[in-house]
Order: sequence, then structure tokens, then C-alpha cells
Amino acid sequence: MQCERCGSLMALGAETAHNGRFLCRECHLDVLSPSGVCEPWTLQSSRRSLNDIQRRILTCLKAGSASLAELAAGLPMGEPDLERELGGLQRMDLVRVARKGGTKVFRRTT
Ligand SMILES: [Zn+2]
Repeated sequence: MQCERCGSLMALGAETAHNGRFLCRECHLDVLSPSGVCEPWTLQSSRRSLNDIQRRILTCLKAGSASLAELAAGLPMGEPDLERELGGLQRMDLVRVARKGGTKVFRRTT
């Protein structure tokens, strides 16, 4: 299954539930101690390496959360490609996964 915070794949049974979200071990530790030392660095360096699509995704999410299908409707790419870019944004902690009425939606962290 996939970590809902960073999007990394993990073995079934390795996930940790935290406030209703399934997190990998690293993210769970991160959440428990929010003052992670490496995070500001990751964020800073990753902002520079956003590609055009990722920028457009972030622009789309400015108005609020959106599902994969909603994002795909507004962007010139298929859902698998979009999912890959969203995975990248999640690893940079710029986008997070949430649930809205049983649907998986993406929202910006800032
Ligand atoms: Zn994680």
C-alpha cells in the first residue's frame, strides 16, 4: 500500500495509522516529532526542481482539493502520468492526500 503522506510504497502491514491516515514508519515518526531537521531543506531544494506539470497541478489545487479525475480533466495528460507527478509532489510534501466523501482527493499543504 501507499503512504498517504509521502506517497512511498510500503509492504502491507508496515503502515501505521495516525489520525485515520496510513503512514509509513518514517512519516509517522515525522508526524510525532514535527520539527524534523531535514524537511526545510527538502522543501527548499525541491521547489526549484518542480516541472511544468507539477506547477500546473499546484495551480489547479489553489482553489481547493481535487480528485485525480478532476485534475485529469483540466490537464493534458492521463491519470497514470498525473498520478506519478502527484506522487512526486507528495514526496516533496507539497501535496497531501485526503478523503472527501469516500473519494481520494489531493490538496496543497500550503
Ligand atoms: Zn511516508
